[in-house]
Amino acid sequence: MKAKNEIKNIDKKSQKKAIIKVRNLEVTFPIRQGNVIALDDINLDIYHGETIGIVGESGCGKSTLGFSLLNSIQSPGRITKGEIYFHDENILNKTKKEIQRIRGKQISMIFQDPMTSLNPLLRIDKHIIETIRKHEKNVSKKEALERAAYLLDKLGIVRNRLFDYPHQLSGGMRQRVMIGIGLALNAEVLIADEPTTSLDVIVEAQFINLLNQLKDDFGITLILITHNMGIVAEISDRIAVMYGGKIMEIGDSRLVFKDPLHPYTQGLLKSIPNIALDDNSLEPMPGFPPDLLNPPKGCRFAPRCKYATEKCFNEVPPVFEYRERLVSCFLYEKKK
Ligand code: SF4
Repeated sequence: MKAKNEIKNIDKKSQKKAIIKVRNLEVTFPIRQGNVIALDDINLDIYHGETIGIVGESGCGKSTLGFSLLNSIQSPGRITKGEIYFHDENILNKTKKEIQRIRGKQISMIFQDPMTSLNPLLRIDKHIIETIRKHEKNVSKKEALERAAYLLDKLGIVRNRLFDYPHQLSGGMRQRVMIGIGLALNAEVLIADEPTTSLDVIVEAQFINLLNQLKDDFGITLILITHNMGIVAEISDRIAVMYGGKIMEIGDSRLVFKDPLHPYTQGLLKSIPNIALDDNSLEPMPGFPPDLLNPPKGCRFAPRCKYATEKCFNEVPPVFEYRERLVSCFLYEKKK
């Protein structure tokens, strides 16, 4: 689809086609004490067919970003600034009906606890069939059942489990069913929000392999939201590192793991046991994430950063392009 006004990529050197473009996004949650700016000036391109890992500590805004991409921020939170383009059309200008058509049909999301998304009173076949027939009115029940059975095959679940209720399946199977529901409508983009949190280590490894396989089989773009750097190292093409409601660094996964540029990314990788790192010595990061009700005036990481200067405490660092990375840090201001 060629849009009339194509929005330029943030990474000007990249020739890739971005399927989603987030521009200057701000999400605010009003609370009694004031406004919490959960996302502040987020700019991100998500390329067609890639797996991008959105990583960062709890509360950094990564899940809020996932919900924003579906324009489903829970009230009283709301998107207060910016644009989100899907195929170069701003989804924030769409009507409720148009957004409902995009959700599920073109962009799907799976969550960390599938039990909260699956109806305990409905059998698995009903979940998948109802999803298909809600969006594709001319599909018969028989055809939808065939598609549901095909999906279960792809997910490595025997077909007769279609007639089970959610509680009769294991946690890993339920999570796979959630992917099946996501894929039932041939969604182009799958957002997986901490999809392995409720799984044990063995099932987690199987699940990640499956996700990778399905991504290739179905040609989907995968957005993986997680604090688990091991998973990201394994399957992501690129990483966006978030801190305090902002993106600190975006780049190719191998480059970010091998040579993290942003001091926060460096600290994050050093504070997490990670076999992908050459140096496995652990270094806890001093200090705490910023209070988003009263965030620091300059760089949000300044109170924890060993390189911070006066400028860092007073000015918000813009995004610099350095070594095929986009990085928001004054250390890269004059580097080429
Ligand atoms: Fe540290 Fe300054 Fe870079 Fe922020 S801008 S990460 S405080 S060096």
